This record gives sequence, C-alpha cells and structure tokens, in this order.
Amino acid sequence: MTWLVQPSLINDPFSDPGLFIDFRFGRRALLFDLGDLTSLSPRQLLRVSHAFVSHTHMDHFAGFDRLLRVCLHRTTPLHLIGPAGFAGRVEHKLRAYTLNLLDAQSVDFVIVASEFSGDGFDRVCEFRAREAFHRRDMPEVLLSPGLLLDEDEFRIDGAVLDHGIPCVAFVFEEKLRVNVWSEGLRRLGLPTGPWLREAKRAVRRGAPDDSHISIRGDLSLPLGVLRQHALHIARGQKIAYVVDIAYHDRNIEKVIALARDADQLFIEAPFLDVDASIAAQRQHLTARQAGAIAKRAGVARLVTFHYSARYRDREDDLRREAEEAFCAHPSHGSHP
Ligand SMILES: [Zn+2]
Repeated sequence: MTWLVQPSLINDPFSDPGLFIDFRFGRRALLFDLGDLTSLSPRQLLRVSHAFVSHTHMDHFAGFDRLLRVCLHRTTPLHLIGPAGFAGRVEHKLRAYTLNLLDAQSVDFVIVASEFSGDGFDRVCEFRAREAFHRRDMPEVLLSPGLLLDEDEFRIDGAVLDHGIPCVAFVFEEKLRVNVWSEGLRRLGLPTGPWLREAKRAVRRGAPDDSHISIRGDLSLPLGVLRQHALHIARGQKIAYVVDIAYHDRNIEKVIALARDADQLFIEAPFLDVDASIAAQRQHLTARQAGAIAKRAGVARLVTFHYSARYRDREDDLRREAEEAFCAHPSHGSHP
C-alpha cells in the first residue's frame, strides 16, 4: 500500500512549529501553520493549495510573507483557513505592502481567507492581485460541524480549542486507500488506463457493487468484480496536528475525539512536567500531558515538537517524558 501523502515537520522541534503535507502523486501540498518557512523551497511552497493556521501568534503566522512572495505570480488560488479574526489579519498583512505594480494586467493570483468557527466558515474574504488585494466579502459557508475541506480522496476536520484565545487543531484523513492489484487486472484481462482512476473514485464515494465502470467504449464491468479481484481497499491514513492548547478537560476531550486512532499525532510538548505550573500559565502542554493525550486517543505513532528553548540541552528528556506517558501501562496508575 502506498500512502496518499507524506507529512513532515517543517523545522526542528525548537524552531517554529508547522507540518508540510506533500502528496505523493501530483503537484500538491498542504500546510498546517505558517511559522518560519525558510526551510521549504519555492518549489515546495508553490505546491501549497491550502494552509491551515492554528492561530496568529507570530511563531505560527510569520511565514505568511514568504508564502505570499513565492506564490504572487501563481495562477492557482491559495486558500488560507484560520480561527475567528483571521481574515482581517490576512488583510492587514496584505495592506502592509506597496502594491502599485499590481493592476488589471497582472497574473490574477487569488487568496481566499476563511474563518473557522467550529461549525463552518463564518467569514470568507477574497483578495485578488488584479484588484491590488482589496478585500471582497464572500458569502459565509456552512459545512457539517468540524469540516474544513472535503475532497474525493481526503477530508480535513478541525476543532476550536482554548489557548486563552481560539486555536484550531487539524486532522487530515484519507477516505479509503484504494490500490490496484496488477496481477488481478492481468487475470481479468484488463488494461491499465484512466478508467482505474474512475474505479478508485467510485470506491471512495461508496458506490454500490452493481454500478458499472466503463473500461473502454465496448467494455464495462460491475464495480463489485473489480473490488473483489483487482483492488486492494483499506482504511485511509489519518494525521492529526495539535499545538498551543491549555491542559483542561474540554480541550483534552476535543483532541481525543479529533485524533482518535490516528496513524500519526503531531502534538506540542513545550515543557517538562516539573514545570507544569509554567505550562498552565502559558496555556501549553507538558510532554507528559501530550503523551497521555496520545495514549487516550489510541494513536499509532506520537511525534512531539514545539519545545521551549529553555530545554535546548534537554531535548531527549522532553521526548522521553512524552514517550513514557504514551507507553505507560494502564495498571501502573498513570495520571489522567
Ligand atoms: Zn506556539
């Protein structure tokens, strides 16, 4: 089975947090957070269709400028999604620049900024290069609760958490992994071709077994036959991203629901548990708390990051503390 996407942290765990989600096929990528992006090449940034911003503290948003600069002459739109107040902040960023060189002849690079309330997009604003990025207010968009993006192959959900301010956690979920079994195709005497993409799409849509897939003009087969003999179908990949949250029940419950059974959970672990009072004051997690949340969510793999600079020389301690809480045996009475 090949994964649809490959997630990787943008920076080392002491630098700005952020996740680059690269698609294995096709020129496409997603970003979770827009902190320091200098380690990403222009080629990588040009692939970004959507950037999801947890909140606009500088370490999560200061990379907006670099993304804008690289994408300015791009023909495909850039979608930015963030919490309440986000569209206004994007507008302020854009208004900070002198844009007299943009006019009706410019490449019409479009930025769409949407504010996620938990139940949909309360506010959607569009900024077009040809209009020197003057704000246009678009109709609000009501999606099902928690949904941020829904495409054929994957969906992205979010939850609004509390960091003293609203802060959004994200989860990328591949709908179904559908791979072609070439030996099965050969036995059925079928050629490869674009029809396979249609067949995969039909599976992901949940089309019934008797729906017919057209292979070429004079040949079609029921989806059930292909499903049985030529396609491998498995649960899709699930990747969760959680940063900058206070450790209290409401946040914990929301994170557990969002990250439930994820293949990978990327979660902040800024402080050691001996400094839990500082973590609480700053509305951040400790490594132990991050590990305990990962364990309760039943995730397969835990990746901690967003470490506080005060532990520069103790990176292993942070990682170990999170791992121990993640792997702790329930009978050993680990803390809630
Ligand atoms: Zn932060």
